[in-house]
Amino acid sequence: MRIAVVGAGAMGSLFGGLLSQVTEVTLVDSWREHVEAINRYGLRLAEPEGELILHPTATTDPAAVRDADLAIVFVKSHQTAMAAGMAAQLLAPDGLALTMQNGVGNREVLAQVLGPQRVLQGVTSQGATLLGPGQVRHGGHGATHLETRPAIAAQAERIASLFTQAGFETHLADDLASLIWGKLVINAGINALTAILRVPNGLLAEVPPARELVAAIVEEAVQVAAARSIRLPYDDPVAQVLAVARATGSNRSSMLQDVMRGSRTEIEVINGAIVREAEAAGLPAPYNRALLALVRSLEATYADRL
Ligand code: NAD
Repeated sequence: MRIAVVGAGAMGSLFGGLLSQVTEVTLVDSWREHVEAINRYGLRLAEPEGELILHPTATTDPAAVRDADLAIVFVKSHQTAMAAGMAAQLLAPDGLALTMQNGVGNREVLAQVLGPQRVLQGVTSQGATLLGPGQVRHGGHGATHLETRPAIAAQAERIASLFTQAGFETHLADDLASLIWGKLVINAGINALTAILRVPNGLLAEVPPARELVAAIVEEAVQVAAARSIRLPYDDPVAQVLAVARATGSNRSSMLQDVMRGSRTEIEVINGAIVREAEAAGLPAPYNRALLALVRSLEATYADRL
Protein backbone atom coordinates (compact mmCIF):
# COMPACT_ATOMS: atom_id res chain seq x y z
CA MET A 1 0.00 0.00 0.00
CA ARG A 2 1.31 3.44 -0.94
CA ILE A 3 0.68 5.92 1.88
CA ALA A 4 1.15 9.70 1.86
CA VAL A 5 1.04 11.65 5.12
CA VAL A 6 -0.17 15.21 4.52
CA GLY A 7 1.12 17.31 7.42
CA ALA A 8 3.98 15.43 9.01
CA GLY A 9 4.51 17.30 12.27
CA ALA A 10 4.35 15.44 15.57
CA MET A 11 1.53 13.01 14.76
CA GLY A 12 2.14 12.67 11.02
CA SER A 13 5.78 11.81 11.67
CA LEU A 14 4.84 9.27 14.35
CA PHE A 15 2.35 7.41 12.14
CA GLY A 16 4.29 7.84 8.91
CA GLY A 17 7.58 6.88 10.54
CA LEU A 18 6.37 3.63 12.09
CA LEU A 19 4.26 2.73 9.03
CA SER A 20 7.37 3.12 6.82
CA GLN A 21 8.68 -0.06 8.47
CA VAL A 22 5.85 -2.07 6.89
CA THR A 23 4.87 -0.23 3.69
CA GLU A 24 5.82 2.60 1.30
CA VAL A 25 5.35 5.99 2.99
CA THR A 26 5.97 9.56 1.85
CA LEU A 27 5.72 12.43 4.32
CA VAL A 28 4.50 15.68 2.74
CA ASP A 29 5.12 18.78 4.85
CA SER A 30 5.75 22.44 4.09
CA TRP A 31 8.45 22.70 6.80
CA ARG A 32 11.63 22.48 4.71
CA GLU A 33 14.16 21.99 7.55
CA HIS A 34 12.17 19.04 8.92
CA VAL A 35 11.88 17.41 5.49
CA GLU A 36 15.62 17.85 4.81
CA ALA A 37 16.59 16.46 8.22
CA ILE A 38 14.43 13.35 7.67
CA ASN A 39 15.89 12.72 4.21
CA ARG A 40 19.46 13.25 5.40
CA TYR A 41 19.52 11.62 8.85
CA GLY A 42 16.26 9.65 9.04
CA LEU A 43 13.35 10.42 11.34
CA ARG A 44 14.49 10.19 14.97
CA LEU A 45 11.63 8.88 17.08
CA ALA A 46 12.16 9.00 20.84
CA GLU A 47 10.43 6.02 22.46
CA PRO A 48 10.46 5.37 26.23
CA GLU A 49 12.90 2.50 25.62
CA GLY A 50 15.26 4.46 23.35
CA GLU A 51 15.54 6.17 19.98
CA LEU A 52 14.41 4.63 16.68
CA ILE A 53 15.74 5.91 13.37
CA LEU A 54 13.11 5.48 10.66
CA HIS A 55 13.36 6.08 6.93
CA PRO A 56 10.16 7.33 5.31
CA THR A 57 10.70 9.51 2.22
CA ALA A 58 9.92 13.19 2.92
CA THR A 59 9.07 16.00 0.52
CA THR A 60 7.70 19.55 0.51
CA ASP A 61 6.16 18.93 -2.92
CA PRO A 62 2.79 17.14 -2.99
CA ALA A 63 3.25 16.59 -6.74
CA ALA A 64 6.12 14.20 -5.89
CA VAL A 65 3.51 11.60 -4.85
CA ARG A 66 1.11 10.02 -7.28
CA ASP A 67 -1.55 7.29 -7.08
CA ALA A 68 -1.42 6.89 -3.31
CA ASP A 69 -3.88 4.41 -1.81
CA LEU A 70 -4.18 6.36 1.43
CA ALA A 71 -3.58 9.98 2.47
CA ILE A 72 -3.33 10.39 6.24
CA VAL A 73 -4.18 14.03 6.98
CA PHE A 74 -2.40 15.35 10.07
CA VAL A 75 -2.27 19.10 9.52
CA LYS A 76 -3.89 21.38 12.13
CA SER A 77 -7.57 21.96 11.44
CA HIS A 78 -7.25 25.41 9.82
CA GLN A 79 -5.06 23.77 7.14
CA THR A 80 -7.43 20.88 6.43
CA ALA A 81 -8.98 22.54 3.36
CA MET A 82 -5.52 22.95 1.84
CA ALA A 83 -4.62 19.36 2.75
CA ALA A 84 -7.82 18.18 1.08
CA GLY A 85 -6.70 19.79 -2.18
CA MET A 86 -3.31 18.04 -1.89
CA ALA A 87 -4.97 14.70 -1.12
CA ALA A 88 -7.16 15.10 -4.22
CA GLN A 89 -3.99 15.48 -6.33
CA LEU A 90 -1.89 12.70 -4.88
CA LEU A 91 -4.51 9.98 -4.31
CA ALA A 92 -5.36 7.26 -6.81
CA PRO A 93 -9.00 7.52 -8.03
CA ASP A 94 -10.13 4.98 -5.41
CA GLY A 95 -7.67 6.19 -2.73
CA LEU A 96 -8.97 7.22 0.69
CA ALA A 97 -8.17 10.16 2.95
CA LEU A 98 -8.02 9.36 6.66
CA THR A 99 -8.35 12.01 9.38
CA MET A 100 -7.44 11.29 12.99
CA GLN A 101 -7.26 15.01 13.83
CA ASN A 102 -8.92 16.26 17.00
CA GLY A 103 -12.30 17.95 17.05
CA VAL A 104 -15.35 17.73 14.82
CA GLY A 105 -15.45 19.25 11.34
CA ASN A 106 -12.28 18.04 9.59
CA ARG A 107 -14.05 15.09 8.05
CA GLU A 108 -16.67 17.40 6.53
CA VAL A 109 -13.99 19.68 5.04
CA LEU A 110 -12.25 16.67 3.42
CA ALA A 111 -15.59 15.32 2.18
CA GLN A 112 -16.42 18.63 0.46
CA VAL A 113 -13.35 18.23 -1.76
CA LEU A 114 -13.05 14.44 -2.09
CA GLY A 115 -16.65 13.30 -1.66
CA PRO A 116 -17.84 11.59 1.54
CA GLN A 117 -17.26 8.10 0.14
CA ARG A 118 -13.48 8.73 -0.05
CA VAL A 119 -13.08 9.92 3.54
CA LEU A 120 -12.31 7.68 6.47
CA GLN A 121 -12.62 8.90 10.06
CA GLY A 122 -10.36 7.66 12.82
CA VAL A 123 -9.67 8.53 16.42
CA THR A 124 -6.45 7.78 18.26
CA SER A 125 -5.16 7.86 21.79
CA GLN A 126 -1.59 8.01 20.52
CA GLY A 127 0.27 11.23 21.30
CA ALA A 128 3.44 12.87 20.02
CA THR A 129 5.52 16.01 20.45
CA LEU A 130 7.90 17.68 18.02
CA LEU A 131 11.40 18.02 19.47
CA GLY A 132 13.01 19.72 16.46
CA PRO A 133 13.57 19.16 12.73
CA GLY A 134 13.46 15.41 12.09
CA GLN A 135 12.88 14.60 15.77
CA VAL A 136 9.66 13.53 17.47
CA ARG A 137 8.83 12.10 20.89
CA HIS A 138 6.23 9.32 21.08
CA GLY A 139 4.30 10.49 24.15
CA GLY A 140 0.96 8.75 24.60
CA HIS A 141 0.47 5.10 23.71
CA GLY A 142 -3.14 3.97 23.29
CA ALA A 143 -5.69 2.42 20.96
CA THR A 144 -6.60 3.69 17.50
CA HIS A 145 -10.11 3.19 16.10
CA LEU A 146 -10.90 3.42 12.40
CA GLU A 147 -14.33 3.65 10.88
CA THR A 148 -15.47 0.97 8.48
CA ARG A 149 -18.52 0.74 6.20
CA PRO A 150 -19.57 -1.81 3.60
CA ALA A 151 -18.33 0.11 0.52
CA ILE A 152 -14.76 0.38 1.85
CA ALA A 153 -14.62 -2.62 4.19
CA ALA A 154 -11.72 -4.34 2.36
CA GLN A 155 -9.62 -1.15 2.26
CA ALA A 156 -10.33 -0.43 5.93
CA GLU A 157 -9.24 -4.00 6.83
CA ARG A 158 -5.95 -3.58 4.93
CA ILE A 159 -5.26 -0.23 6.58
CA ALA A 160 -6.05 -1.58 10.07
CA SER A 161 -3.81 -4.57 9.45
CA LEU A 162 -0.87 -2.35 8.37
CA PHE A 163 -1.40 -0.10 11.40
CA THR A 164 -1.29 -3.15 13.66
CA GLN A 165 1.89 -4.44 11.98
CA ALA A 166 3.44 -1.00 12.49
CA GLY A 167 2.77 -1.27 16.24
CA PHE A 168 -0.48 0.72 16.58
CA GLU A 169 -3.20 -1.26 18.36
CA THR A 170 -6.07 -0.70 15.89
CA HIS A 171 -9.76 -1.61 15.91
CA LEU A 172 -12.42 -1.18 13.24
CA ALA A 173 -15.85 0.12 14.24
CA ASP A 174 -19.10 1.02 12.45
CA ASP A 175 -19.70 4.10 14.54
CA LEU A 176 -17.02 6.27 16.12
CA ALA A 177 -19.34 9.05 17.35
CA SER A 178 -19.09 8.03 21.00
CA LEU A 179 -15.26 8.02 20.96
CA ILE A 180 -15.00 11.22 18.90
CA TRP A 181 -17.39 13.08 21.16
CA GLY A 182 -15.76 11.58 24.24
CA LYS A 183 -12.49 13.21 23.16
CA LEU A 184 -14.23 16.41 21.99
CA VAL A 185 -15.87 16.99 25.39
CA ILE A 186 -12.50 16.58 27.15
CA ASN A 187 -10.75 18.94 24.72
CA ALA A 188 -13.63 21.44 24.96
CA GLY A 189 -13.39 21.46 28.76
CA ILE A 190 -9.61 21.82 28.99
CA ASN A 191 -8.00 23.42 25.93
CA ALA A 192 -9.56 26.86 25.60
CA LEU A 193 -9.60 27.58 29.34
CA THR A 194 -5.93 26.63 29.80
CA ALA A 195 -5.07 28.78 26.75
CA ILE A 196 -6.94 31.82 28.10
CA LEU A 197 -5.70 31.41 31.68
CA ARG A 198 -2.18 30.38 30.54
CA VAL A 199 -2.00 27.59 33.07
CA PRO A 200 -1.09 23.88 32.91
CA ASN A 201 -4.03 21.44 32.82
CA GLY A 202 -3.96 20.51 36.52
CA LEU A 203 -4.83 24.03 37.73
CA LEU A 204 -8.33 23.72 36.22
CA ALA A 205 -9.13 20.98 38.73
CA GLU A 206 -7.52 22.77 41.67
CA VAL A 207 -8.90 26.32 41.42
CA PRO A 208 -12.60 26.39 42.43
CA PRO A 209 -13.85 29.10 39.99
CA ALA A 210 -11.99 27.41 37.12
CA ARG A 211 -13.53 24.09 38.12
CA GLU A 212 -16.98 25.70 37.97
CA LEU A 213 -16.26 26.99 34.48
CA VAL A 214 -15.13 23.51 33.37
CA ALA A 215 -18.40 22.07 34.70
CA ALA A 216 -20.53 24.65 32.85
CA ILE A 217 -18.65 24.18 29.56
CA VAL A 218 -18.83 20.39 29.79
CA GLU A 219 -22.54 20.34 30.75
CA GLU A 220 -23.36 22.31 27.58
CA ALA A 221 -21.36 19.88 25.44
CA VAL A 222 -23.11 16.94 27.10
CA GLN A 223 -26.53 18.43 26.27
CA VAL A 224 -25.51 18.80 22.63
CA ALA A 225 -24.25 15.21 22.48
CA ALA A 226 -27.51 14.01 24.03
CA ALA A 227 -29.55 15.99 21.47
CA ARG A 228 -27.61 14.09 18.77
CA SER A 229 -28.29 10.79 20.59
CA ILE A 230 -24.56 10.29 21.15
CA ARG A 231 -23.70 8.23 24.20
CA LEU A 232 -20.43 9.38 25.73
CA PRO A 233 -17.91 6.66 26.66
CA TYR A 234 -17.99 7.64 30.37
CA ASP A 235 -20.78 8.12 32.92
CA ASP A 236 -19.84 11.36 34.66
CA PRO A 237 -18.41 13.76 32.05
CA VAL A 238 -17.48 16.60 34.45
CA ALA A 239 -15.65 14.17 36.77
CA GLN A 240 -13.94 12.63 33.71
CA VAL A 241 -12.70 15.96 32.38
CA LEU A 242 -11.40 16.97 35.83
CA ALA A 243 -9.72 13.57 36.19
CA VAL A 244 -7.97 14.03 32.82
CA ALA A 245 -6.91 17.55 33.86
CA ARG A 246 -5.39 16.11 37.07
CA ALA A 247 -3.79 13.12 35.33
CA THR A 248 -2.10 15.45 32.81
CA GLY A 249 -1.53 18.10 35.50
CA SER A 250 1.80 19.52 34.34
CA ASN A 251 0.95 19.39 30.60
CA ARG A 252 0.45 22.49 28.51
CA SER A 253 -2.56 21.82 26.29
CA SER A 254 -2.00 22.07 22.53
CA MET A 255 -4.16 25.22 22.46
CA LEU A 256 -2.08 26.86 25.18
CA GLN A 257 1.06 26.00 23.17
CA ASP A 258 -0.51 27.50 20.03
CA VAL A 259 -1.44 30.71 21.88
CA MET A 260 2.02 31.01 23.46
CA ARG A 261 3.57 30.66 19.97
CA GLY A 262 1.11 33.14 18.46
CA SER A 263 -0.27 30.45 16.10
CA ARG A 264 -3.79 29.71 14.93
CA THR A 265 -5.56 27.32 17.31
CA GLU A 266 -8.04 24.50 16.69
CA ILE A 267 -10.85 26.39 18.52
CA GLU A 268 -13.18 26.19 15.47
CA VAL A 269 -13.34 22.36 15.58
CA ILE A 270 -13.45 22.13 19.40
CA ASN A 271 -15.64 24.70 21.23
CA GLY A 272 -16.63 26.06 17.79
CA ALA A 273 -18.00 22.62 16.89
CA ILE A 274 -20.06 22.53 20.11
CA VAL A 275 -21.53 25.95 19.24
CA ARG A 276 -22.38 24.88 15.66
CA GLU A 277 -23.96 21.63 16.80
CA ALA A 278 -25.87 23.45 19.59
CA GLU A 279 -27.30 25.87 17.03
CA ALA A 280 -28.36 22.98 14.81
CA ALA A 281 -30.12 21.36 17.78
CA GLY A 282 -31.74 24.62 18.93
CA LEU A 283 -29.80 24.62 22.21
CA PRO A 284 -28.06 27.56 23.87
CA ALA A 285 -24.34 27.17 24.53
CA PRO A 286 -23.30 30.50 26.09
CA TYR A 287 -20.11 29.26 27.78
CA ASN A 288 -18.77 27.57 24.65
CA ARG A 289 -19.81 30.59 22.57
CA ALA A 290 -17.88 32.90 24.93
CA LEU A 291 -14.77 30.66 24.75
CA LEU A 292 -14.98 30.65 20.96
CA ALA A 293 -15.18 34.46 20.86
CA LEU A 294 -12.36 34.84 23.43
CA VAL A 295 -9.94 32.53 21.62
CA ARG A 296 -10.80 34.08 18.23
CA SER A 297 -10.08 37.48 19.86
CA LEU A 298 -6.76 36.18 21.25
CA GLU A 299 -5.77 35.00 17.78
CA ALA A 300 -6.71 38.37 16.25
CA THR A 301 -4.65 40.37 18.78
CA TYR A 302 -1.35 38.46 19.06
CA ALA A 303 0.56 41.45 17.71
CA ASP A 304 -1.11 43.90 20.08
CA ARG A 305 -0.64 42.15 23.43
CA LEU A 306 0.55 44.59 26.15
P1 NAD B 1 1.95 19.72 14.31
O1 NAD B 1 1.83 21.22 14.34
O2 NAD B 1 3.09 19.07 15.01
O3 NAD B 1 1.96 19.22 12.80
C1 NAD B 1 1.24 19.83 11.74
C2 NAD B 1 2.18 19.82 10.53
O4 NAD B 1 1.47 20.28 9.39
C3 NAD B 1 3.39 20.75 10.69
O5 NAD B 1 4.58 20.00 10.56
C4 NAD B 1 3.22 21.75 9.56
O6 NAD B 1 4.49 22.13 8.98
C5 NAD B 1 2.41 20.95 8.58
N1 NAD B 1 1.72 21.78 7.59
C6 NAD B 1 1.05 22.93 7.80
N2 NAD B 1 0.57 23.40 6.64
C7 NAD B 1 0.92 22.52 5.69
C8 NAD B 1 0.70 22.45 4.28
N3 NAD B 1 0.01 23.38 3.64
N4 NAD B 1 1.22 21.40 3.62
C9 NAD B 1 1.91 20.45 4.25
N5 NAD B 1 2.14 20.46 5.58
C10 NAD B 1 1.66 21.48 6.28
O7 NAD B 1 0.56 19.17 14.88
P2 NAD B 1 0.24 17.76 15.58
O8 NAD B 1 0.45 17.88 17.04
O9 NAD B 1 0.93 16.68 14.82
O10 NAD B 1 -1.33 17.69 15.36
C11 NAD B 1 -1.90 17.37 14.10
C12 NAD B 1 -3.36 17.03 14.30
O11 NAD B 1 -3.46 15.86 15.13
C13 NAD B 1 -4.18 18.11 15.02
O12 NAD B 1 -5.49 18.14 14.51
C14 NAD B 1 -4.20 17.63 16.47
O13 NAD B 1 -5.35 18.08 17.16
C15 NAD B 1 -4.26 16.13 16.27
N6 NAD B 1 -3.76 15.32 17.40
C16 NAD B 1 -2.56 15.62 17.99
C17 NAD B 1 -2.10 14.81 19.01
C18 NAD B 1 -0.73 15.03 19.63
O14 NAD B 1 -0.40 14.33 20.61
N7 NAD B 1 0.11 15.91 19.13
C19 NAD B 1 -2.86 13.72 19.44
C20 NAD B 1 -4.09 13.44 18.81
C21 NAD B 1 -4.51 14.26 17.77
